[in-house]
Amino acid sequence: MVAEFADKEVAPVAQEYDEAEEFPKDLVLKMYDLGLMGMMVPGEYGGGGTDTLSYCIAMEEINRVDASLGTIMSVNNSLVCDPILRYGTEEQKKYYLPKLTDQKWLGAYALTEPWSGSDAGAMKSTAVLDGDEWILNGQKIFVTNAWHAQVLVTYAKTEPDAPRSKGISAFVIPTDAPGLNKVRKEKKMGIRATDTTALEFEDCRVPKENLLGKLNEGFKVALSTLDGGRIGIACQALGIARGAYEASLQYAKEREQFDQTISSFQAIQWKLADMATEIDAARLLIHRAAYLRDSDTKYTKEASMAKLFASDLAVRASREAVQIFGGYGYLRDFPVERLYRDAKITELYEGTSEIQRLVIARRLLRDYQP
Ligand SMILES: Cc1cc2nc3c(=O)[nH]c(=O)nc-3n(C[C@H](O)[C@H](O)[C@H](O)COP(=O)(O)OP(=O)(O)OC[C@H]3O[C@@H](n4cnc5c(N)ncnc54)[C@H](O)[C@@H]3O)c2cc1C
Repeated sequence: MVAEFADKEVAPVAQEYDEAEEFPKDLVLKMYDLGLMGMMVPGEYGGGGTDTLSYCIAMEEINRVDASLGTIMSVNNSLVCDPILRYGTEEQKKYYLPKLTDQKWLGAYALTEPWSGSDAGAMKSTAVLDGDEWILNGQKIFVTNAWHAQVLVTYAKTEPDAPRSKGISAFVIPTDAPGLNKVRKEKKMGIRATDTTALEFEDCRVPKENLLGKLNEGFKVALSTLDGGRIGIACQALGIARGAYEASLQYAKEREQFDQTISSFQAIQWKLADMATEIDAARLLIHRAAYLRDSDTKYTKEASMAKLFASDLAVRASREAVQIFGGYGYLRDFPVERLYRDAKITELYEGTSEIQRLVIARRLLRDYQP
């Protein structure tokens, strides 16, 4: 069903939205109708009640044709519904989750600040309790979906003097809260149909009940949310690599030079062979991480391995696709140009490749038994 939606409804317009740098509102609304925006949310809260593996398969199919749409989907599922489901009170779950699934509200996730990206614990935004309300102040940047979102999951220091990642709390807040300002939309290299927004909290007041999870334990919420999110981004990267491979295979069988199809040249065959092999390897890494998550087993290292490998592959495979297309690959008339630009983001957000290596190595060294 997702593959059919991707091929019939998304693929024909993905390039137009990218060119126009326009949020694909009609496609996003259809994704709610298809149950793709809160897939792992249980049915009682309006979601699809699927496991992580099903989410991975759907993410791969959407991203195969449009990584912008895949990004919008991944933020709503992995970064907004998921922490509300796992850390929210019953009231928060009953209030927000049906809205983020059935009622077509969009979610955004604001962790990054101008001075804290990889080092998320260095955030400076603050939240101070004033009677029955939190007052938030500070800046958040690079917030996907925020221009159109109704709900924001965010983080602020609730104990400003606590060292680094301590004294941070998570919040779930409506984006029309007084004092929450949209500052600007960024212009980007890829995933150009998504909005990436800078936000500012200026004495932003939200009810006391909007704390998400326990006071001062927000960093745990952030990190565990990113573990799940990384599986989603790995699927996005896999989808991009597959899109690049499938376009390359088709083109190589059609394009003729020196009186033969370019697929008869071993140089091209090897590229296709490497892509196909590495795509299978990435999918297996991803499905292992999803299986561990679905079995309630620790999966931090495996999620990072899947994201590291798949994002590296997305960049490599899309670059090779442009090479196989030759000069035509450089034109915006063919999708491989967009895939190449879109691929790069998977090595950056939800933890750069350097941070994935750091996470993996930390666990390898911690678990080493002589
Ligand atoms: C299009 C887009 C969408 C985004 N969406 C969101 C969103 O929705 N919500 C959100 O909160 N954030 C979002 N981000 C932010 C993204 O997660 C950060 O950009 C990313 O985590 C990296 O942070 P930074 O840009 O500050 O880079 P920095 O942390 O400044 O890193 C710069 C370089 O230094 C390296 N580096 C840093 N620390 C180490 C280390 N310890 N060891 C080795 N190398 C290191 C990095 O790997 C990188 O190569 C988005 C970013 C983009 C571009």
